[in-house]
Amino acid sequence: MFDMDHPQSSHRFAAYHQIALVHKFAYAISLSTGHSRRDFYDIIKPAIIALMWLNEHRFENRKEIHDTIAAVDQELLSLVAKTHHGQYVGELTNCPACDALITEFGSYKPHGVDFTVPEYRYCEPCLERFANLLEKLKSASDGFGLEAI
Ligand SMILES: [Zn+2]
Repeated sequence: MFDMDHPQSSHRFAAYHQIALVHKFAYAISLSTGHSRRDFYDIIKPAIIALMWLNEHRFENRKEIHDTIAAVDQELLSLVAKTHHGQYVGELTNCPACDALITEFGSYKPHGVDFTVPEYRYCEPCLERFANLLEKLKSASDGFGLEAI
């Protein structure tokens, strides 16, 4: 159980929400075309900077956390750099970068229409290394210790 009285609890929650933002937009990078991959990275970058700040000022500037954040950032940049033919991804069933089957889960009904769309669509193989690094960033050994949240 997460201890709300622990002096670092609010800092851990801050890290948790930055990581959630990084995670959400990494999904978007994995299936985006052309410059929109870079645009999604530009949404993520302030969260990476916030995570570095949290480590520096609230987690005693731990080398393990710093290195894990840097590895996440590098992995995101390599996702941004993956090129593909630029076809509109919404109509594809396979990842345009690696040709794996696209993963979909959840659904919602956009305002004013009669159909539902998947809440999340992403390429699992493209995000595998990233997902492992994100788990590391949540861990107590190499990250912010978010397992209990
Ligand atoms: Zn892929």
